[in-house]
Amino acid sequence: MRPDPRRADQRRGGWPEIVRHRMDFANWLPRSVAAHREWTGRWPDFAAHPACAVDEERLGDAFAELAGRLRDTYPFFHPRYVGQMLKPPHPVAALGYLTAMLANPNNHALDGGPATAALEREVIEQLAAMFGLPIPFGHLTSSGTLGNLQALYVARESHPSAGVAFSADAHYTHARMCHVLNIPAYPVAVDERGRLDLAALEQTLRTGRVGTVVVTVGTTALGAVDPVHEILPLARRHGVRVHVDAAYGGFHKTIAESDASILDPAPWRAIGDCDSVVVDPHKHGLQPYGCGAVLYRDAEVGRFFLHDSPYTYFTSGELHPGELSLECSRSGAAAAALWLTLRVFPLTPDGLGAVLTPGRQAALRWAAELRHDPVLRLYQEPDLDIVTYYPAQPRTLTALDAASAALMTAGMTDTDPVYVALLRVRANDFALRDTGVTPDRPDARILRSVLMKPESLSATPELLFRLRELARKYSSGPDSRIGSVKAPRR
Ligand SMILES: *Cc1c(COP(=O)(O)O)cnc(C)c1O
Repeated sequence: MRPDPRRADQRRGGWPEIVRHRMDFANWLPRSVAAHREWTGRWPDFAAHPACAVDEERLGDAFAELAGRLRDTYPFFHPRYVGQMLKPPHPVAALGYLTAMLANPNNHALDGGPATAALEREVIEQLAAMFGLPIPFGHLTSSGTLGNLQALYVARESHPSAGVAFSADAHYTHARMCHVLNIPAYPVAVDERGRLDLAALEQTLRTGRVGTVVVTVGTTALGAVDPVHEILPLARRHGVRVHVDAAYGGFHKTIAESDASILDPAPWRAIGDCDSVVVDPHKHGLQPYGCGAVLYRDAEVGRFFLHDSPYTYFTSGELHPGELSLECSRSGAAAAALWLTLRVFPLTPDGLGAVLTPGRQAALRWAAELRHDPVLRLYQEPDLDIVTYYPAQPRTLTALDAASAALMTAGMTDTDPVYVALLRVRANDFALRDTGVTPDRPDARILRSVLMKPESLSATPELLFRLRELARKYSSGPDSRIGSVKAPRR
């Protein structure tokens, strides 16, 4: 079946009115190409080697095939997609990326291109200023994972004989990276809101085995925000470093001070006093994949990265961001993309903050609606823009698990589609939030929606209407078991 959401709109007319104020990328693409040509034109013309010549007919065929194959992608751009942490880059980021990428600068060192090295320094200054870090010391990375790896490497070098503590809901990367770095890992229990439990942490710190605690601002599953402001003084009393994994929720700092009814600013305020922080511009910073960042409070940690290279570092005496990085080649285009984006959407409440606020408001609205809903029930209050919920009718974990999975599959294959994600939760954690459901299995899948696009707000009434319809349909008995279905082709 081939869903046509536009037809569904006409039929029911419930989705928000369509107003077009998107930047037209097609108008900007020629300026990107022109800027590149103007730059290359400053050098003498030369004959390109025929080996790189292209048979345009062949390219045309291959391109058509590629475009066809790419249709088998979920519509991350659309308000009806409220599944995983996925959305397209802003066209401004794509423009910045493309324009720099045509030259392909490499931010491993200054000889990879001074322009994008300077752009990287400037975006690091802006990120550090956003968090209130005393100095802009850090660099972009290919991902949050590589940022966390480097922060944990610094953790190990700073406390060579100690381990790392992180909450049971922290990103799985921390356990993996501890394994890679051969650091003892100490998972700490979470409370009934999925936040690192202070009493449990204190108990772990008392063992004297921990050198660094990882605090998460926006857990990947629930969007829970650990109480950074309470963990930091506790850690300091025990002489322990604090690394903040704000890969997902770091950019919410731009709105944390603007309205206390939307966010409690306390955890974000404390980030600037922690030892290191990771934030992912490719999550809430409007960037294409390949853009994370790690920042440190103390430039002294730079000594752990000291190395000599026989090939590079000869063009300047000044420290290049690449010298701090465990990665060698790094995309200069990623720095250019983020720089251009932050020029248009600065790290202020009115800049990037205005893009993030509606998603948070949408989550609050979902929570208000589902708190007492007979069809869909809220799993827990959202700290950020991630909402978790489940069909309210099934009264065993087995039935609830099947109904959640059936709803997700039905949603994305329906003629009037809506895309949500699943989250596996442990029976114990479920019981902390709802004791009315029989725990007849060790875990169950519930529903999870990441409302990371500003359009999620105006789409909320219709999204919830559709999800309730689906929950009613798939909450009863054997009908709820439908097989896994591939993403619809369009
Ligand atoms: C996404 C995420 C990561 C991993 O970052 P990648 O950019 O996917 O490598 C780590 N921690 C948290 C909290 C995240 O949300």
